Amino acid sequence: MGDRIELVGVRAFGRHGVYAHEREQGQEFVVDVVLHLSLASAAATDDVADTVHYGELAERIVALVGAEPVALIETLAQRIADDVLSDVRVNSVDVTVHKPSAPITVPFGDVSVRISRAGLHTAVIASGSNLGDRAATLESALRAIAATPALSVLAESPVVESAAHTLDGVDEDKPAYLNQVVIVRTELGAADLLARLQQIELEHGRARAERWGDRTLDLDIVSFDSVISDDPDLRLPHPRAHERAFVLVPWLLADPEAELPGVGRVDALAASMADQVTEVDAR
Ligand code: ATP
Ligand code: CA
Ligand code: CA
Repeated sequence: MGDRIELVGVRAFGRHGVYAHEREQGQEFVVDVVLHLSLASAAATDDVADTVHYGELAERIVALVGAEPVALIETLAQRIADDVLSDVRVNSVDVTVHKPSAPITVPFGDVSVRISRAGLHTAVIASGSNLGDRAATLESALRAIAATPALSVLAESPVVESAAHTLDGVDEDKPAYLNQVVIVRTELGAADLLARLQQIELEHGRARAERWGDRTLDLDIVSFDSVISDDPDLRLPHPRAHERAFVLVPWLLADPEAELPGVGRVDALAASMADQVTEVDAR
């Protein structure tokens, strides 16, 4: 973390202000933005699609300055912040709007306002364990999730139990899984949330062995706002969530209105799955 994109001194014409002559004549506004986001994947792939395109960002800022006039540059700054944060890769943004020709009756150099805003996202997390003290692990993972800075838990599902799935299908000989779904509200971007979940997996003794092998703790992001992404490091929504009773059934118990972005309502998806998992008594 700590990565940023800074775009400074974007000049644009607008008609913002409290005076009629400001609406009529308009004036120049100057905007600085600092985007706080992870640039690790762009640095690794060298692909502009993996970062925020600052040329397009500059054009959007010019369009917003030129849009519907408002009285205050505070309001204009908020509009720009909202636009920047609509890209969920951006964790937070600082926006400064300068009004160097503001109607001030004494000589002055510049006047500006600066706001800092963080995006707030809703994420659905699926946790699973089939090794060790599974219930204690899920409970501890939930505590670790809840202790994450800039994150709060909105809802947690009951814990459910189901047979292990391997690459060859259901395997009744493998230790069964306990699963839970946790719904959170967070200022973290999706990549930072996944990094935090992977850290929690490691803290719970997760070793990465074969795919779908036994594990003490698995934490997947089922959905993140309504983001749809096929980035192999973070596919959203989770590409197998729609067929997994151990995700859909507890998710529905935590949120009867749940929807899998781009797929559909969870109640419809889970309709025929209830008998594949068993609700486990409160620990
Ligand atoms: P499955 O994805 O089928 O549930 P798994 O959880 O066993 O399998 P892992 O070995 O835990 O798979 O994860 C492999 C990689 O999947 C991780 O390194 C991670 O970057 C990537 N990944 C892609 N999309 C997601 C997602 N939505 N949530 C968690 N990890 C994801
Ligand atoms: Ca998984
Ligand atoms: Ca996983």
